[in-house]
Amino acid sequence: MVALVSGANRGIGLATARALRESGHVVVAGTRSGTAPDGLAAVTMDVTSTESVDSAFDQIEAEYGAIDILVANAGITRDGLILRMSDSDIDDVFQTNLVGALRCARRAAKGMVRARRGRIIMVSSVVWALGSAGQVNYAAAKAGLVGAARSLSRELGGRGITCNVVAPGFVETEMTEVLEESHRETIRGQIPLGRYATPDEIAAVIDFLAGDAAAYITGAVIPVDGGLGMGH
Ligand code: NDP
Repeated sequence: MVALVSGANRGIGLATARALRESGHVVVAGTRSGTAPDGLAAVTMDVTSTESVDSAFDQIEAEYGAIDILVANAGITRDGLILRMSDSDIDDVFQTNLVGALRCARRAAKGMVRARRGRIIMVSSVVWALGSAGQVNYAAAKAGLVGAARSLSRELGGRGITCNVVAPGFVETEMTEVLEESHRETIRGQIPLGRYATPDEIAAVIDFLAGDAAAYITGAVIPVDGGLGMGH
């Protein structure tokens, strides 16, 4: 199967691209630079631009055929308390995390509907349900992905297309490296498993959702959070 992973040059996206390749899929990394490490095929794709997304899909389809698996992973944070949050902090986070994923899903659905098969996997976050002080913009965008995925499941299920959400807790990537050590320690204390996840642990669940064993799962939100968000 042909898989596209957005934001696959580092972090969870890169780990996912590697895991999907390991499972035998033809993987293309969608990255802003148009390059990716580790010998991965890459295409330039900025998820904040419809033109860039559409052109990336056109290129992949021309070279590899229709995309069967989409992993909408690209994401950013612009943390701050609501009273100090600027319009661009809100817009940028929505454009990348939520609208970006919808742009990719819309374009992917085109080929998937025709092929009558497909897997769409969206990377949300534990904060979609838990909430997070200082991340009102990010939590809202990540919660939006859940509504989008459930709606896509209903719209596209009859065509053999599944759409699921993976909701990671805290993962050791550049996104969390910037947090102050005291904050990291506080978070760690709240995680039943007492540690952050590795990117590979998130990638393994995405790979499962992309595989044959997950054919009957759609509209699901799968937490991969060490127990941090349980009960939601
Ligand atoms: P990183 O910051 O390590 O990587 C983010 C990736 O997204 C990079 O490849 C980055 O590309 C890419 N990206 C950002 N903006 C765009 C854009 N406009 N177009 C295309 N690609 C873009 O983050 P993680 O790997 O940690 O995060 C991956 C996903 O997982 C995100 O959606 C994040 O919200 C989510 N997540 C992460 C958690 C964590 O603890 N790390 C927890 C829960 C969810 P570039 O190199 O060009 O900047």
